[in-house]
Amino acid sequence: MQCSMCQSYKREGIHLLESFVCSDCERVMVATNPLHPLYPLLIQRMKVILFAKQTGWSQ
Ligand SMILES: [Zn+2]
Repeated sequence: MQCSMCQSYKREGIHLLESFVCSDCERVMVATNPLHPLYPLLIQRMKVILFAKQTGWSQ
């Protein structure tokens, strides 16, 4: 599966809505550490995913 956050292919992770998030990114999100280098990217991707879900853009 390709992680929708970091774009890398991982076997382990979670399905967040209709997207796959690898275990590494999941940990980052759970930690919600603003100092993490991936944090801004994760937030940006999360907003895109959530926005698409809310508006039904992905359907
Ligand atoms: Zn990832």
